[in-house]
Amino acid sequence: MIVLLFGPPGVGKGTQAELLIKKYQLTACSTGNILREEIARQSELGKTVRQYLEQGELVPDHHLFTLIERFIGTHRKNNMLFDGFPRNLNQATVFDTLLTKVDLKLDVALELHLSEDEIIKRLIHRRYCSTCGRTYNLLTSPPEKDDHCSNCGSSLTPRSDDTEAVIRRRMNVYVEETQPLIDYYKNKYIYHQVSAQGTQNEVFERITPIFNGHID
Ligand code: AMP
Repeated sequence: MIVLLFGPPGVGKGTQAELLIKKYQLTACSTGNILREEIARQSELGKTVRQYLEQGELVPDHHLFTLIERFIGTHRKNNMLFDGFPRNLNQATVFDTLLTKVDLKLDVALELHLSEDEIIKRLIHRRYCSTCGRTYNLLTSPPEKDDHCSNCGSSLTPRSDDTEAVIRRRMNVYVEETQPLIDYYKNKYIYHQVSAQGTQNEVFERITPIFNGHID
């Protein structure tokens, strides 16, 4: 099974991805996490892409293709979950080509949907662990100990792209670049939309019936 999660920033893709990975033993590819790790270890790629993440812009496609082709090559025998890729039509068509090359195809493209007001509220309360990548929400899923990651104990901070100006830019980028994926995947009959309103578990319970129909 190959699935992808997409949706506007702050909708809870990362949180749902974590729950889905555990339940279905999926191998996950979160391009946002991979890029943040590259930036943290100051690799050549990290230095190149840093400005794009800081400004809320999409990283140029070719950087993503290198990462994704490598990921598919390594994990092609596993069930895979993509979180945050593809993010525009060009990435979606190249993704299909890369999968076809190794006799695979995407089974589910799932969009998480939420109102803009709720998104802003969630992003303002989001905290991030730069050591292990786990994300918290101070209102809905706080860490056990204030400002410390329950997984690895490191300090939590807001993500550097969760400022008001960058949030707005990311939302616009989502509408302009990523939303066209809805029609692209509708035309392939693999599009599903789930409301991201409510608790993590409520959202998870809306997603699992869709996945259950596709698991090998
Ligand atoms: P995310 O963690 O998914 O919100 O991604 C954070 C940032 O990483 C985005 O605002 C982009 O700058 C960059 N990014 C992540 N995935 C992609 C992608 N598929 N294409 C281009 N840029 C990406």
